[in-house]
Amino acid sequence: MAGKPKAMQYNRAAAPRSAKSNLMPPKLTFHGRLQPCLGLLLVALLTGCTSSPEIQDRPIPFSASRQDATLAYIDQHYGRQPSDISIVPRIIVLHWTAIADLAGSFAAFEPEQLPSSRPDLAGAGQVNVSIQFLVDRDGTTYRLMPETWMARHTIGLNYNAIGVENVGGVGSVDNMTDVQIEANIRLVRYLAKKYPSIEYLIGHSEYREFEGHPLWLELDDGYRTEKVDPGDRFMTAIRRAVAPLGLKGPVEIRSERRLD
Ligand SMILES: [Zn+2]
Repeated sequence: MAGKPKAMQYNRAAAPRSAKSNLMPPKLTFHGRLQPCLGLLLVALLTGCTSSPEIQDRPIPFSASRQDATLAYIDQHYGRQPSDISIVPRIIVLHWTAIADLAGSFAAFEPEQLPSSRPDLAGAGQVNVSIQFLVDRDGTTYRLMPETWMARHTIGLNYNAIGVENVGGVGSVDNMTDVQIEANIRLVRYLAKKYPSIEYLIGHSEYREFEGHPLWLELDDGYRTEKVDPGDRFMTAIRRAVAPLGLKGPVEIRSERRLD
């Protein structure tokens, strides 16, 4: 049972589907569902079964309207019309936020709609950027939304990816801490074990290696951003530690591209 956050499974089951049918009562939001989680946690503790104690849930607002905007993004960018925003994760993408502290980083993901400070992304959909996990500078790991709801964090890959952001990297300077690296290693191991469908691990700066790969879905050839996060030192340290998992990286991705 370790590594199976029950609250997330509970959320994933009903909420996205309700978003489309407009049947979601106000209480059945991601926020409103945290209360039962406490009861489950108590049961888990009493039975000696802990639920990923290193991960703290700190959900960002993800109302029916944000879910609908996510569905619109999936339609516009990936040409798919699913009934909910759940994904089958195939890739882990690691990032830094380029924001100095936790509060500022969290605030970047909190608004449901893209703020006016991101005109670079606005033409590509109004749903704000989001992320499944955020790691603070002291290594504390927060889960911001259900693990298999689609987050907007990496062009072309969101529908296949779980993202991890790390607080720091202001001015494109690598200041990732040792405890952040350790937390990312634990998180990658946790995710790879929980989701056998995950085969790939990349840093955000490597995302364009997927262009031409079967998992690349972006329909707009003009929609690209240049990324440097989270840096080679960080990725090298993570990859060395999780090598036994056999996750594929840029070399394998290049070899798997379509030859058209
Ligand atoms: Zn990034």
